[in-house]
Amino acid sequence: MSAEPVSLIEKHISTEVILSSIKNPALVMSLSGKVARLNPRCRQYLPDVREGRSLSDYCEEAGVFGSLRKMICHARSASGLHPCRLQTKSPETPGSWLGFFSVLCSQITHKPIAILLEVDDHKVERENRLLALDQEAENRLTVLRQFHQDGIHDPLTGLKNRRYMDSFLKMECDLIKRQSVGGTLVVVDIDHFKRINDTYGHNVGDKVISAVAHRLEKRLRDSDVACRWGGEEFVLFLHNTSGYQAFSTCEELRTLIQHHQVESESCSLQVTVSFGLTTLQTQDSPQSLFARADEALYQAKMMGRNQVQVV
Ligand code: GH3
Ligand code: MG
Ligand code: MG
Repeated sequence: MSAEPVSLIEKHISTEVILSSIKNPALVMSLSGKVARLNPRCRQYLPDVREGRSLSDYCEEAGVFGSLRKMICHARSASGLHPCRLQTKSPETPGSWLGFFSVLCSQITHKPIAILLEVDDHKVERENRLLALDQEAENRLTVLRQFHQDGIHDPLTGLKNRRYMDSFLKMECDLIKRQSVGGTLVVVDIDHFKRINDTYGHNVGDKVISAVAHRLEKRLRDSDVACRWGGEEFVLFLHNTSGYQAFSTCEELRTLIQHHQVESESCSLQVTVSFGLTTLQTQDSPQSLFARADEALYQAKMMGRNQVQVV
C-alpha cells in the first residue's frame, strides 16, 4: 500500500531528486492527499507520518483554506507557492507549523500530478519564539496587576490601604493649594471592638470589620476614597464636600451601621462606630489634617461613642 502513490508519481516525476534539494522538512503527496515521499528532515519533524497514509490522518489545515481537501483543490487549479498553516493531530508532536505548498506537474503530460509541501522551519521557530514572548509578557502583566491590586488594597475588606491613603492625602494637600478643590477627612473607629473580639473571637471580629467596611463603601460616592487604616479604624476622604455636608453623610452612615445586624454562624450582633471629621484647609499637610480628625474622634469617644464630632 505504501509504495503505490510513490510509484504512480515516480512515473511522471522524480520526487527523490526534488526532495533531496530541499533543506526544510518537506514531503510530496498525491492529489488525493496521500503521502508519497518524505525527506529525512521531515521524518525527524513528523516522526509518525508514513508513506501511503493520508496527510489528513496526521494534521489538519488551520490556515487560509480551512481543510486539507480544499488546500489540495486550490493547489490543482493554481500555480506558484501558497502559504499554509498545518495543525498536527499527534499528541506527541502537538502544535502548528507554517509552510507553503506548490503543485508538481507531470514531465510527460504537464498536468498536475502531486503536491509538494514544505515546512518553513525558521519561520516556525520565529513564530514560536514570538508566541512564547507574548505569553511571557502577558504573564508578567498579570503578576504586575496583582502586585498593584495587593499593593494598594486591604485584603480583608477590599478597601484601599493605608499606603494608598498616605500618598492620596499628599496629593490632595498639594491640589488644594493650586486649585482650591477641597474635601473633608473622616476617621472612623468601631466602638468597644476589643470586647467583640474577646467575647466572640477573632473570626467574628473580622466579620464585623468587613461588614462596617461594606456599609461605608456602599454609601460613599465614586469620587470619595475609603481606606482601612488598620485594625478597626477607617479613613475616608469626601471630595469637594463641606464640613456640613460631610457631617450629615457621617450621621447617615452612623445610623445605618448601628441598625445593621452582623450575622455569623455563632451569633448576631449590632455594633456602633464613632466619627471624627475635619475639613481640608489651604495650609494643611497630611499630618496637620490627620491630627485634627484624630482630635475630633477622641472627642467622640470621650463624649460617649456612637457619634460624629467635628474639629
Ligand atoms: P474604643 O471604643 O475606644 O475604640 O475601644 P476598642 O476596644 O474598639 O479599641 P482598642 O484599641 O482597645 O481595641 C482594638 C482591638 O482591635 C485590639 C486588637 O486586638 C483588635 N484588632 C486589630 N486588628 C484586628 C484585625 O484585623 N482583626 C480583628 N479581629 N481584630 C483586630
Ligand atoms: Mg481603634
Ligand atoms: Mg475602637
